[in-house]
Amino acid sequence: MAVKVAKFGGSSVADGIQLSKIREIIKSDPSRRYIVVSAPGKRFSGDNKITDLLYLVKTTMENLLPYEQLFQVVCDRYTAVHANLGLKVDMQSAYDEILEKLKTNPSADYIASRGEYLNAILIADFLGFDFVDAENMVKFDEKGRFLMEETFTAIREELANHEYAVIPGFYGSLPNGDIKTFSRGGSDITGSLIAGAINAECYENWTDVSGFLMADPRIVKNPKQIRTVSYKELRELSYMGASVLHEDAIYPARIADVPINIRNTNDPEDPGTMIVSPERAEQLISGESSRDIITGIAGSKDFTVVTLYKNMMSQERGFVRRILGILDDYDINFEHLPSGIDTVSVVMSNKQINGRLDEILVEFQSRLRPDSIDVIENIAQIATVGHKMSARRGTAATLFTALANAGVNIRMIDQGSSELNIIVGVDNNDFNKAIQAIYGAFVEA
Ligand code: ASP
Repeated sequence: MAVKVAKFGGSSVADGIQLSKIREIIKSDPSRRYIVVSAPGKRFSGDNKITDLLYLVKTTMENLLPYEQLFQVVCDRYTAVHANLGLKVDMQSAYDEILEKLKTNPSADYIASRGEYLNAILIADFLGFDFVDAENMVKFDEKGRFLMEETFTAIREELANHEYAVIPGFYGSLPNGDIKTFSRGGSDITGSLIAGAINAECYENWTDVSGFLMADPRIVKNPKQIRTVSYKELRELSYMGASVLHEDAIYPARIADVPINIRNTNDPEDPGTMIVSPERAEQLISGESSRDIITGIAGSKDFTVVTLYKNMMSQERGFVRRILGILDDYDINFEHLPSGIDTVSVVMSNKQINGRLDEILVEFQSRLRPDSIDVIENIAQIATVGHKMSARRGTAATLFTALANAGVNIRMIDQGSSELNIIVGVDNNDFNKAIQAIYGAFVEA
């Protein structure tokens, strides 16, 4: 039988009402056999996420303040749902076990992970599925580095014993048994791991939006939804700031060629966005009634471009290597390194530079001896992404004409060799205007 893995995010599992919705969804398709859950999220704006409260328990503990009351607030959230849905499972012994462990000053990872742990126990009871702890399936080495192969094997072995199961997202364990979490939002990764390991038919990621939009709705009014996007295109889009899915959640599904479907718990009829291999993308796109040339536009502000000029630079071996060495010394991940004859530009986010621009420029000057250095600050980068887009005649012309007509000055251009995107750098102040212009030029109303 086909197997689907369905992951439900914090807002989809925030209270009894949401849990009733997810039960409907799960029960309406018996192939939804493995359910991965986040900790309860916000029920209304201003509410607390359970994970945030749990991190606060740790901070309180570290400041030698009484934390029991705060932990009680966490337990009360589950108890309320338990009562509301008339569940039978014994939550009290799970709370007691955690309370005992809290006396030993456990790690922040352990404490934070209990949000997912308790929720999975509760939801397994609600659905009548087995509870299977991620602790025994998601593996890290002693340095806390994630182990993919070991994890895939452990998942296959464990799930072979369970036809229907609920699995807590976000964490796994170290070789000594201690709990280790992924970064925030990491339940998406757990879902992808389960789906990849068992070669699921689909990895459904249920959240509170109907998939990806072609542009940020705060900038473009009512942007169209993206129906199909390839893994790679999404990588380009998320890299630039669109974030519905944890970045690291793509890889495990992708290596097993499992499609990821972003769905909306509050609007389950909407087909959402499919994230697939380029081959599948082409098939799906050919079936779509209308398709724009581009898949989406994403961007973010606050970058700095440092351009180094040096006569006969291309003859000088090791110039770029030395640039990278300096960036390495400052622990900076650069964004792009566009180069021309006798020039190389380094594009870095201001966050990475972290107030050290002057120091870095001094290093560039003394270690690279360029003829001159040019610095442009407050640059926004905008990526226009589309499968095979740049291979199509006229795409660049459309893009640049749209920006020129909107009075936007382009400070930098980088067309990735992937043929998937064209990135332009514009003034921070022109960010919204540029995105609106690009959207208007490519997307049919
Ligand atoms: N509960 C965790 C967080 O809030 C993980 C997740 O929801 O994916 O980051």
